[in-house]
Amino acid sequence: MAEELLVTEGAGQTRVVNVGSFVRFGDSAPVVIAGPCSVESERQIIETAEAVAAAGAHMLRGGAFKPRTSPYSFQGLGLDGLRYLRAAGRATGLPVVTEVMDVQDVGPVAESADMLQIGARSMQNFSLLRAAGRSGRPVLLKRGAGATLDEWLHAAEYVLAEGNRDVVLCERGIRSFEPYTRNTMDLASALAARQRTSLPVIADPSHATGRRELVVPMARAVISSGLDGVILEVHPNPDGSLSDAAQTISTDAFAALMRSLHIAPRSADLAQLRDAVDELDEAIVKLIDQRMALSARIGEVKRHHGLPVRQLSREQAILQRLSTRRDGHLTPAAVTDIWTAILSASRERQGRTAAQEGR
Ligand code: PEP
Ligand code: MN
Repeated sequence: MAEELLVTEGAGQTRVVNVGSFVRFGDSAPVVIAGPCSVESERQIIETAEAVAAAGAHMLRGGAFKPRTSPYSFQGLGLDGLRYLRAAGRATGLPVVTEVMDVQDVGPVAESADMLQIGARSMQNFSLLRAAGRSGRPVLLKRGAGATLDEWLHAAEYVLAEGNRDVVLCERGIRSFEPYTRNTMDLASALAARQRTSLPVIADPSHATGRRELVVPMARAVISSGLDGVILEVHPNPDGSLSDAAQTISTDAFAALMRSLHIAPRSADLAQLRDAVDELDEAIVKLIDQRMALSARIGEVKRHHGLPVRQLSREQAILQRLSTRRDGHLTPAAVTDIWTAILSASRERQGRTAAQEGR
């Protein structure tokens, strides 16, 4: 590389890349990203997020837009997947990373995700790299399966050239003559990338090996090599994964790995958890306000038909339905208290007429 490149400035002195308010790539401790290959359902991603968070993961992964070899394979849930991923991240306090495949999706993905992933197959999609560089989000740049170290670093340069220095490189295996493993994990090039740039470098033993039984030992190798982290495919039921089942480890195997690496569960960071709670509160208030808008319309209908605002049997049915759900954390008594207050506010809203509202 004869030219002066931003990517080689300060080579060997890793710049810290922050994601969310507490993840720091390139700091002393390795960052562990875990989650399914694909977001498959709301339930699957929240279940996985809770398990990996409890085991000590620092970030959640999950593909919503999937680069599949065949157009007939599961392609991901798209925007719905993005929504589920973001909700699971918020619920567990884990920042999320997800792949963006198309320039037109950079906006929505940057809005929902804390970090954008450029996948191996897109490593030389130069317009996508430039768009990611302008997204305002940190970028996880995977190495193309057929890319040389220099090509990989030049790809990073495209992001940096847009003024975005927050790039983390990810070695995910290159294609070699060996078919037993899906790819060949090129740890030496990953370490060279770290020496030749100031970017943090992590590795992905899941895609690099393609074999579940090799993922855990290779993750150990990555951590002991001194790289800045690992990204792992984890699923509550690996064999049932809709993509990359063979290389996906169980949430139990992940927890065992974390214990053996002595990466303790992240000690609760109060400020970060409070940020997550504040965001959820905003969303809850918005939803309750939407509910009140419906109440206002119900009020109009009731008035039109001369019906009373309060219908006890309907209120009891709502309380009964909600308080018998089993969502894990909310007790029936808490549900009853909260919805008693919501129903009271709703009656008050129904009682106000459009005229009183000045509409
Ligand atoms: C992935 O992380 O889900 C993925 C598709 O990775 P890669 O681009 O490395 O194949
Ligand atoms: Mn995958």
